[in-house]
Formats: sequence, C-alpha cells, structure tokens
Amino acid sequence: MKKTEHVWFDGQLVPWDQATVHVASHAIHYGTSVFEGIRAYELPAGPAVFCLQEHLERLWASCKVLRLEIPYTYQELYQAVLDTIRANGHRSCYIRPVVLKGWGTLGFKLEMCPSHVSIITIEMGTFLGPEALEGVDVGVSSWRRMAPGTYPAAAKIGGQYVNSLLIAREAVDHGYTESIALDINGHVSEGPGENIFVLWRGELLTPPLTSSILDGITRRCVFTLAAELGIPVREEMVSREMLYLADELFFCGTAAELTPIRSVDNILVGQGKRGPVTTKLMDAFFDIVEGRVPDRHNWLTPVN
Ligand code: PMP
Repeated sequence: MKKTEHVWFDGQLVPWDQATVHVASHAIHYGTSVFEGIRAYELPAGPAVFCLQEHLERLWASCKVLRLEIPYTYQELYQAVLDTIRANGHRSCYIRPVVLKGWGTLGFKLEMCPSHVSIITIEMGTFLGPEALEGVDVGVSSWRRMAPGTYPAAAKIGGQYVNSLLIAREAVDHGYTESIALDINGHVSEGPGENIFVLWRGELLTPPLTSSILDGITRRCVFTLAAELGIPVREEMVSREMLYLADELFFCGTAAELTPIRSVDNILVGQGKRGPVTTKLMDAFFDIVEGRVPDRHNWLTPVN
C-alpha cells in the first residue's frame, strides 16, 4: 500500500511521517483502539463518501462499548474525513479513522490514557482480487468468532481483529480467497471483514447480530436494496451445511462491496458462479456508488 501525503492527526493535517504515537501507547499493548473503514467512490462531480454518517455513528457506538472518549465532535470528524480526502487529492479511496489510547499507564485504567484520533486515506481497488466480481472460493475456518460475553462482536475494536487475522490467514493457508467463521454454537457468523447473505429457497437470509457479527453498514444497504427489488430478506441463523446447499451466497462489506461466493470447502454453491439475485443486488449497489442512477437513499456525501 502506498502512503499518502497527508494524515489527519489529533486535530490537524500533518505529513504522513509525522502521524506517530509512542511505543508505550496503551493501544499497542492491549488493542485499545476503535476504528472504521469507509469508502469514497469516484463520481463524475468528484469523490463522494459512502454512508459517512452511519460509519461515524458506529465509531461512536464502538467507543461507547469500550468507554473510550472521542475528544472531537461528530461535525469535526465529519469535516476531517472530507478534508483528508481533499488534501490527498483522491478520486476514490478507502478511509480509516482510528481512535486509540495513548501513553498514560500500562495498567487497565483507560481514563489515565489520552485518546488520539487519526484519519488516513489510501487508494483501494477490489478488495478480494479481480476475480472477486465473478465469485470467490472460500473455506469454513476452524477459528470461531468470539463467544457472547467475551469480546463485543458488534463493536469495531482494534484488539478484536486478531480473531479476523487468524480467520483470514487460514484461508491463505488452505488456498482459498477468504474464510467464513462460525459462531461459538457452530452457526454461520461472518467473514473476517465481511457479512454474509445466503439465498435459501427464494429468501435472502443473513445471520442475526446475536451470531457474533459486526452490524455491517453494507449489510443494512443490502436490506434496503433487496426490499426495493422485492426480494424477501430475513435475519436468521444459518447452519454450515446451508452454505453448501444454498442457491447463492455473497459477502458484503465496505472493502469487499458485494462479492459472490462460488464455492465453500471446495463444494460448488448453486451453479458455481454468480447467481441472478446476487447480480441484481450488485447492479443496484454499483449503479448508485458509480453514479449511474440518482443517490435515492442519500448514501453519498460529496467531498467537494
Ligand atoms: N464484519 C466484520 C468483522 C468487519 O470488519 C466488517 C468491515 N467493517 C464487516 C463485517 C462489514 O461491515 P461494513 O459493511 O460496515 O463495512
């Protein structure tokens, strides 16, 4: 990944190399940070940020769970995101705001550590590779998502992403593009950075929030688009074998966008290629973010 010229760090734009924290920072030792991943898309009138409000709201929600204060207002961070994109001259990009605990103590009293806030922006293409639009091969991971009452799955807390790294690493080890993780009870949860949808007997199913998933913002957009297209959609627990027997499967997420899954554990899903329902949803999604149809849901915030 290429570094950019500017990073927003503790209230101002600074050169990339100056956006640093001390090795004694609490976040480095304990993963006490909260982050977001947001995309800005290239539109004819310039870049536009996708679901900025929803992402910032989730940043605040994750901080609430970790009891981590953000020393800026919502409006300040909203502006900071737009300023950083503008300063780096992106046409499209991935945006990574992070709130992290700095140096104060090596003990567990978070309130003794100051919060630092940074926003970096980087160029990002298709997250799961160029073949992703036609369907990826995935495996079920032997690593489970966190059990309820251990880590708060619905909060995007830095330290928890070691779980995602282990899940994603197993895909590489086994020659898959990505992994799907089960929850502690053996029900399907999600990918390391993606929610999952299953087309099952004409209905679109997705694991509920209680299956240790992140409350994905793209997942919410899929609910909206499916309703518009007249595709029934429901939150429902999904078993592992339903992945093999589904008519269609796809991942969704900010980085992964909508990505069809063509096989799970080397078993072809449906016809083993992108299915018609997935295609309809992908078309509806990309038509909006690529500016071919009006932004009827107010999902896009123009940068300029
Ligand atoms: N699950 C996990 C664990 C994630 O990290 C992400 C990426 N933020 C998602 C799902 C998808 O969420 P979103 O659509 O908000 O990017």
